[in-house]
Amino acid sequence: MIETDVLVIGAGPAGSAASKHAALGGADVILIDKKSEIGTPKRCAEGIYDHGLKWLGIEPDPQWAVQRINGGTIIAPDGTRLTLDETILPERGYIIERKVFDKYMAMDAARAGAKIMVKTIAKSIMRDEDDKGSFFIVDCEHMGEIIEIKASILIAADGPESRIAKALGINSTTNPKDMMSGVQYEMVGVNCERMDLIELHIGAFTDGGYAWIFPKGDDIANVGIGISSTCKKPAIDFLNDFIDSYPPLNNAKAVELNVGGDPIGGLIERIYDDNFLVCGDAAGQVDPITGGGIILGMLGGMTAGQVAAKAIKDKDYSKERLKEYDILYDKHTQGAIPKLKIAHEVYRSLEDDDFNKIIQAFAGLDIQNMKPKDIIKLFLKISPRLALKFSKLFKILF
Ligand SMILES: Cc1cc2nc3c(=O)[nH]c(=O)nc-3n(C[C@H](O)[C@H](O)[C@H](O)COP(=O)(O)OP(=O)(O)OC[C@H]3O[C@@H](n4cnc5c(N)ncnc54)[C@H](O)[C@@H]3O)c2cc1C
Repeated sequence: MIETDVLVIGAGPAGSAASKHAALGGADVILIDKKSEIGTPKRCAEGIYDHGLKWLGIEPDPQWAVQRINGGTIIAPDGTRLTLDETILPERGYIIERKVFDKYMAMDAARAGAKIMVKTIAKSIMRDEDDKGSFFIVDCEHMGEIIEIKASILIAADGPESRIAKALGINSTTNPKDMMSGVQYEMVGVNCERMDLIELHIGAFTDGGYAWIFPKGDDIANVGIGISSTCKKPAIDFLNDFIDSYPPLNNAKAVELNVGGDPIGGLIERIYDDNFLVCGDAAGQVDPITGGGIILGMLGGMTAGQVAAKAIKDKDYSKERLKEYDILYDKHTQGAIPKLKIAHEVYRSLEDDDFNKIIQAFAGLDIQNMKPKDIIKLFLKISPRLALKFSKLFKILF
């Protein structure tokens, strides 16, 4: 039996952030992952934003920050383009190489003191207690052998629809309509006008998703689509049609295929319990509009790790103590996920004609200097019906 203060299950970005910060806080930490190579295969378009890295205290490293991104273009179903680049946006970002990034984040956790065990899968979990308090015994399969790990605090960072959370009685199931089905090719021979801008192609057929081109180099890009799992046609058919019909992709060739589900339904019912914390996709820490979960999940991991280390010092692993994680996560993210969920419901309800009208109305305007009242007026001008649809969102934003 191996004993540790904190056991983290899953060495994605969220689990590595949790391990790093729990170790920095003075706890003994073990981080396990069932994969033999952390970060591979990738299931991601690999976009992140600068202020996210700043929140996490991570300096971009050219080993994984492979393409500077200065903004993006939104393309309506009728082809109208709205470009928001460095002349308008205060924020920039990167396309990263996840296979390197995830490994580097695990290395950061190791440097902070965490023990990393690859090819180690958590099989079953049992809660127990002795005269010193309660703990978990986790049975893991490690390179063909069963080992037992005893931990005072368990952090589940095992990705979408967390089996670990489910095993401990927390509902982590995503409603099928909120599970975005993502499929993507990494392609070479991509010929977009500006390879420092991402492209987002919107349309009602995605039922709340979009198609994307995220450049990764001179002629390289992640080209993908996310559609609701309830859509009748498979995502790959939509993606192939998109590639055939969009001239900048006509000569592009795929060198990699990535497939994955993205849980965009918001936070799961509870992200903490006695001796237990959940972070990352496992906790639903994903932006419901973009499907981005790297930064929000790592913020969850960082906060969970910090709270776990303090609880270890206090020798108090009760849910009353660990609730601090929930409170701090909400504070750090300013309650963003529930708000973005409301915005996504509005987005999902739009028809192609609505998208066309909105993008046409904003294209060419001095968006940077628009005040909330200008935006509301513009929506009233486009259509009172659309203004009404957006009113719930305006109430949250303005
Ligand atoms: C197509 C697609 C495109 C995306 N694009 C973006 C994007 O551009 N930007 C962005 O920010 N986000 C994007 N996302 C979302 C992003 O990939 C996830 O939010 C992110 O990977 C979540 O990190 P995580 O650490 O929570 O989980 P994961 O990265 O899923 O890691 C979970 C880990 O747990 C391990 N594991 C699971 N079960 C066990 C077990 N029982 N024992 C041991 N190990 C276990 C797995 O092997 C895995 O390594 C995209 C998602 C998809 C599907």
